[in-house]
Parts: sequence; structure tokens; C-alpha cells
Amino acid sequence: MDDIIIVGGGIGGLTLALALHEAKIPCRVFESAAEIKAVGVGINLLPHATKELAALGLEPALARVAIETADATFFNRFGQLIYREPLGRAAGYDQPQFSIHRGDLQMVLLDAFRARAGHERIITHHHCLRVEQDDSGVGVTFSDGLGGSARSTVRGRVAIACDGINSAIRKQFYPDEAEPRYSGVNMWRGVTRWKPMLSGASMVRAGWLSHGKMVIYPIRAAAGDGLQLINWVAEIETPHYRKREWNREGSLADFIAPFADWHFDWLDVPAFIRAADGVLEFPMVDQDPLPRWSFGRITLLGDAAHPMVPRGSNGAGQAILDARALTAALLQNADPVAALASYERQRLEATTRIVLANRNNPPDAILREVFERTHDRPFEAIDDIISRDELVALSESYKQIAGYSKDALRS
Ligand SMILES: Cc1cc2nc3c(=O)[nH]c(=O)nc-3n(C[C@H](O)[C@H](O)[C@H](O)COP(=O)(O)OP(=O)(O)OC[C@H]3O[C@@H](n4cnc5c(N)ncnc54)[C@H](O)[C@@H]3O)c2cc1C
Repeated sequence: MDDIIIVGGGIGGLTLALALHEAKIPCRVFESAAEIKAVGVGINLLPHATKELAALGLEPALARVAIETADATFFNRFGQLIYREPLGRAAGYDQPQFSIHRGDLQMVLLDAFRARAGHERIITHHHCLRVEQDDSGVGVTFSDGLGGSARSTVRGRVAIACDGINSAIRKQFYPDEAEPRYSGVNMWRGVTRWKPMLSGASMVRAGWLSHGKMVIYPIRAAAGDGLQLINWVAEIETPHYRKREWNREGSLADFIAPFADWHFDWLDVPAFIRAADGVLEFPMVDQDPLPRWSFGRITLLGDAAHPMVPRGSNGAGQAILDARALTAALLQNADPVAALASYERQRLEATTRIVLANRNNPPDAILREVFERTHDRPFEAIDDIISRDELVALSESYKQIAGYSKDALRS
């Protein structure tokens, strides 16, 4: 009855559960799926997120399954190097940047919460339909899984919507909101077992959206065969798209053509794509920022609050930062309504800036600048096109907006 009810056992919900447990605030997680399985492909955790996860004692477990990302490297579609900068500890941060399989991250969080708080505090096969509240608490109504007919209502002190981009609770408060907003870019994603490329821990961005852009980074260390698990995303401006579903299978024929001549000395891109375990397809979507997340004893967190296009490696990270801020607000305010209002004040404006920056000026703005200035042709020398100072400024401005400049993390 006094528990915090967390709706959704994804990255945000599980991080929140761990943070609340550390703060000795009782909570339970209700997840729609019958079983929490390691689904998804790659995710990046920037230093502001790894700092929070380290504070929860998770750095060693993450380091065992992730790759510590060492550098960001940008190329044009002719394979010419535009810019390279160190990342994470290699760039002097006190924290690492991790590239990790989303499923591995979810399992690290899940295992830690089960071990610390007990298995019974994760309740699966509970799909949230709606939330009611009165002066003393909330009542969350669930069906037995998505589309299930049985109903049950759980009482708690507050309810936190961590139910992702298609949040039922967000829909309850914003019934007239349109479907997620398509950015005009479709994505095809996969993982390929391949030998290490470049530094072996590089995050590569190459090409540009109008002709085809690739993001490539390793997410699991090499096994006995010397091959890493390498995540890749092909992003192409495409007028049509189908509704986002995390597990929709994609087809090679729909996107491989723009990459057919990408034979670089550091990677044969078409061969690499063809060697993938499978292809997932989803549109790049977000939502316009909301004016309000907290309604009395109910609030939104992570993608339910601020879905963003994945161009700044920040979706999971911002959910993790929300969890930290919400826990602190609940510790500081005995009144849960005041706590949820305080959390919103701290996080809504900050995440709004990132949602908008991801639309217009994410880190890959570097690729757009060079694409436009060269009119999509090879260059003689990159310094003739764009100065090192401009490249650094483009990269640093996103770090400031997203809250992970070195100064911000040290203060
Ligand atoms: C299956 C899946 C695969 C993904 N794969 C990738 C990926 O490959 N790369 C990437 O960058 N991001 C991926 N994401 C998104 C990424 O996890 C989030 O953008 C980010 O981590 C923010 O986390 P979140 O907790 O807000 O949302 P999510 O991690 O999406 O978690 C939401 C959770 O809520 C559950 N849920 C949804 N509706 C209900 C409901 N009504 N009642 C109860 N529970 C509900 C979902 O099953 C899920 O476990 C994926 C998300 C999902 C759900």
C-alpha cells in the first residue's frame, strides 16, 4: 500500500527501482511482458549515465558485458576521415562511456534489483490500462498482459509511468496527442559478428541521411574466434514508414543499395551488413515536448515523458538521470505531490532542450556540415572544408545541452 508503483520494467523503470531501493523507499515494478527478456540491439551510455549507474554499484557488472567506448570517428561516404575525438575515460572523464547490448543492460539492472530487493518485487504479465488517484494514494488497473481480459487493481503511494514510447499513462493524460512524430528518416538495425575495426572501441558515424548514413560500434568483447558483436544502424531519408514496433523485421533489399560501394580500408560495409544475424526496421520518431508530466501522485519518466530521436545516444541516459532526480525528490519531500512537482521542475526543461537538439543539431551535425560544404564530393584536405575549431565546437555544444560536458560532471 505504501509502495511506489513503477509501471514498466525497461531501462528507466529498473533503474528507478534500484535507486529507490538504495534510498530505502519501497517499490514494485509491474511489467507488461510475461517475462523480461534481453531484447533490442545496441545502446550507448554516456558518462553522465554511467556516473549514476556507478553510484548504484553497477559499474563492474556493466564493464563485464559492455565495451568501454574509446573514440568517436566521423567519415564521409567515401570513407574519408572528417574528425576523431576521444570519449569517456580516454577523453579525461572520471567515468567511462559504455556501448552495450540493450538486453545486457536490462539484465544487469534486473539481476541487481532481484538480488537486492527480492524476486517478488518484479511482477510481470501486468499491462497497465489506467491509473486513478485520491488523497491517500493511487490505484493502478492492469490486464493480464497486453490484450488480456482479466483485471486487477493495485494500490500504492504514487505511480510512475516508465512504460516507454507508447505509454498508456501518457495517453490517459494526453488523449488527443497524435501518434509519435516521424522525422523523415527510417532506420534498419542489426548486429554482426566481425573482427575489431579502427581502435576496436570506436563509435563510427559515416555518410549523411539523404544518401545513407551508418552508425557502427562494438557492444560485446571478442569471443574465442576473435570476433566482436558489432551494432550497426543504417539511417536513410525515406518518405514512408510503418508504426514503430521494436521487433519488426526489416529487409536487406530495402536499404542496402546506398551502401553498395562502401568498401573502405577499415571496413567492407556491404559485406558487414550482409553478415548480420538479422535486421530490425523502425522509424526514427519522437514526440513534441509536453508542458507537464506530474499530475498529483502520478508522473512520467524516460521515453514515456520525453521520447527523442536516437541521434545523440541519450534515450537510455536521460531515463537514468530522471530516475536519480525522482529518487532525490522523493527523499527530500515527505509530501509525494510536492516531490513529483519538484522532479518535473528539475527534468522537464532539461530534457525538452535535448529532444529539440536531437532534431536539429545532434553530434552528427558534423556530417551534415561537411556534406553540404563539399556538395557530397570527396575532399582534398578536411581543413579546406571545416576547421578543427568548428568541429570541436559542434561536438562540445551538444555535450553542454545534453549535460555531459566534463565541467558539468565534475561540479
Ligand atoms: C523491446 C524494446 C527494444 C528496444 N530496443 C532498443 C534498441 O535496440 N536500441 C535503442 O536505442 N533503444 C531501444 N529501446 C528503447 C530504449 O530502451 C529506450 O529508449 C530507453 O532506454 C528509455 O527507457 P524507458 O525505460 O523509458 O523505455 P523502455 O526501455 O522502452 O521500457 C518500457 C517498458 O515498459 C513496458 N511497458 C510498455 N507498456 C506497458 C504497460 N502498459 N504496462 C506495463 N508495462 C508496459 C515495456 O514492455 C518495457 O519493458 C527498446 C525498447 C523496447 C521496449
